[in-house]
Amino acid sequence: MSVSNGRAFLAIPGPTTVPDQVLQAMNRPAIDLYSGDHLDLTASLLADLPKLFRTRGHAYIYAANGHGAWEAALTNVLSRGDHILVLDSGRFATGWGEMAEAMGVSVEVLHGDWHSAVDPNKVEERLRADAKGDIKAVLVVQVDTASSVANDIEAIRAAMDAAGHDALLMVDAVASLATMPYQMDAWEVDVTVTGSQKGLMTPPGLGFIAASDKARERRRLNANLVTRYWDWSFRDGNEHYMKYCGTPPEHLLFGLRKALDMLLAEGLDNVVARHQILADAVRAAVARWAEAGALSFNITDPAHRANSVTTVRTKGFQPKALLDYAREKCGVTIGIGIGGLEATAFRIAHMGHVNAPMVLGTLGVIETGLKALEIPHGKGGVEAAIETIAGVVKA
Ligand SMILES: *Cc1c(COP(=O)(O)O)cnc(C)c1O
Repeated sequence: MSVSNGRAFLAIPGPTTVPDQVLQAMNRPAIDLYSGDHLDLTASLLADLPKLFRTRGHAYIYAANGHGAWEAALTNVLSRGDHILVLDSGRFATGWGEMAEAMGVSVEVLHGDWHSAVDPNKVEERLRADAKGDIKAVLVVQVDTASSVANDIEAIRAAMDAAGHDALLMVDAVASLATMPYQMDAWEVDVTVTGSQKGLMTPPGLGFIAASDKARERRRLNANLVTRYWDWSFRDGNEHYMKYCGTPPEHLLFGLRKALDMLLAEGLDNVVARHQILADAVRAAVARWAEAGALSFNITDPAHRANSVTTVRTKGFQPKALLDYAREKCGVTIGIGIGGLEATAFRIAHMGHVNAPMVLGTLGVIETGLKALEIPHGKGGVEAAIETIAGVVKA
């Protein structure tokens, strides 16, 4: 028996659900890349993207996924042999660091564990010890999509300032932009990297960067890793094709335009509040289920749990059995654990185009699976989620 036919739900942390309006905006013929319409589209995107990052700095759009945007960021500000510091809190900052290493950068990892956020005191301590200023950049993720930790970027900036260190602060906001507060200028972030397919509700294939003046100055002065495709200076050129270093990824841009319209119409603060409420609902359910001991939060401190994804640890059962049940029997795809957590965790995504029925439906399916598979769990997880939402969202 199965009850999976109907609209399939994707509850994985990227790619996320693409709104029908975004899909429809893409369903049109290609346009002339030299036309005024296309120039206007590009200008509007480059004007609106910085609003998401809350920066007056420059945005760049790449036909690339998040990994491409990572490479873009590194090549524009670093030179072969530069030393950088990677703040580990899961899989993604270290992955970014591995990419830098492959490019000839000397990479030092400030190790963390997968259960807590980066400790700003340790960052300060390490930077204080670097009196000569060898460390050229500090790399960190705002949300690590494997561990589901949310790092405090503002506190990390404060730690860098307290150490009086001049390194660039480079932040991966792929799994957090438009889901949690982000203040690029107020937090003095130099480079922010993100992608289209998570909070931005657009199909995979676009990478974005926002760069501060200081970062762009680095590019001009001494970044010898730069290559033409990623080069900000080339993309700063006047001709339209230069903005993309070739033919623009037109249909993705049509989709992105619609997605940004939707986010800006809702209002960024409301978008963030929606994610907060829905994440609180997920956490209320997980906390209830966890009472029987077979499930637990991967991130110990509630203050550092992401509002975009929740990694749930499992004990005494294979998460695959639960995920297979959810997908095959009930039509909801839930994220697997990654980076070594395949057999001991699953991930519930609550990011992007999500609303109460999608989250309550997903939680309902997980609870159904826990019951059907006879996995020990505290009763009433969905009820706890409902109480959370009803407690905040008033008539
Ligand atoms: C998804 C993700 C990436 C990588 O993005 P791709 O588009 O898969 O290359 C990088 N960082 C974080 C935090 C992510 O969640």
